[in-house]
Amino acid sequence: MKTLKLYWENPYFKKVKANILSIDTYEKDPTKYVITLDKTIFYPEGGGQPSDQGKIDDAKVLYVYEQDNIIYHVVDKVPKKKDDVFCTLDWNRRFDFMQQHLGQHILTYAFINLYKANTIGFHLGDEIVTIDIDKSTLNDKDMETVEIYANEIIYKNLEVKSLFPTKEELANMPLVKKPSVDEDIRIIEIDGLDYTPCGGTHPKYTGSVGMIKIRKWENYKGNIRIEFICGKRCIQDFQWKNQQINNIANILSVKDIEVEDTVVKMYHNNKELNKSIKDYKKIILDYQVDKLYADAEKVSEYYIVLHEFNGEDMQDIMYISNSLSKYPNVISLLGTKNNLAQVVFSCSKDVPIKMNKLFKEFIFLIDGKGGGNATSAQGGGKNINNLSTFLKSAKTRVIEKLS
Ligand SMILES: [Zn+2]
Repeated sequence: MKTLKLYWENPYFKKVKANILSIDTYEKDPTKYVITLDKTIFYPEGGGQPSDQGKIDDAKVLYVYEQDNIIYHVVDKVPKKKDDVFCTLDWNRRFDFMQQHLGQHILTYAFINLYKANTIGFHLGDEIVTIDIDKSTLNDKDMETVEIYANEIIYKNLEVKSLFPTKEELANMPLVKKPSVDEDIRIIEIDGLDYTPCGGTHPKYTGSVGMIKIRKWENYKGNIRIEFICGKRCIQDFQWKNQQINNIANILSVKDIEVEDTVVKMYHNNKELNKSIKDYKKIILDYQVDKLYADAEKVSEYYIVLHEFNGEDMQDIMYISNSLSKYPNVISLLGTKNNLAQVVFSCSKDVPIKMNKLFKEFIFLIDGKGGGNATSAQGGGKNINNLSTFLKSAKTRVIEKLS
């Protein structure tokens, strides 16, 4: 027996009494049950609109689907009674979907009417709503024009009618989209403007959509995908965005309308500053390299550099180490202390000592790990108190080997 669709009769029914016709275990999840009713206010998933939720007696309605004109309600438990059970809709969720859905009809109409762009896809999610339109040449200005036009249809508060036309009546309707079913064809009319075959739920007047806002759009597979929101979702979106813009404006001490220009300027300034800092840093590091080389201890024809930094960035120390080993006959033993003791050994190509071997010999002093090759080795360890001993022990061994 067909389920009577009360949500078609009146999409504002929030609570009705109905009779349970069947209760079965839900095939896809045996911990759930599936109920059929003689009539229902629960919209089943379809046409891009998610299913309703709510309660049948004391059982939670989790999901609703339709098959062969019968509507199935997936619930978490078996209701206590079968006859005259109270069905209650999660109205906040439903009304949100109604706002988004009618908003979609209006937006789709606006795109056709202004730019002959057809809607070829629709998705209504819990947070975002999208449509795909079959024209890829529109720009930001066109989107603004569509948005203004669509919102004007809302201000006019036009009546939204649900029609079940005869075949003859249907033939005379200016339908852009063909019905996807053969019988029980339902047309949603926006007061003489737009006629769309649709089985979804919609508010009675366009004014209830409140507002349509295109949040963003992008070219997508040769079409355009438009992300938009309607009704309550707009005020929520506006609230956090407004708050953020006001907060940023306060931080920058500018007016809200000047935020973007100010941030763009800051972004470019910051880029230049970073470049200058990098340049100055290189000058300072090169100076440090020269100084360390000048102060190096000479052992026969070799120069030994030992230096313990205090928390300097490891990348900077690596730069110094690399630069020192470009001089001939240099062995450089550098370390720094952060939350770890970190060490870099390096030497010029002509030095007859293997850095990885030297490193491995003393690494136990800092409880560390690491490695490298003959001319460069690095690593770190937990025992920061032994960093000096580690560096000095390595230096002693170097002197032994070179003398
Ligand atoms: Zn619809």
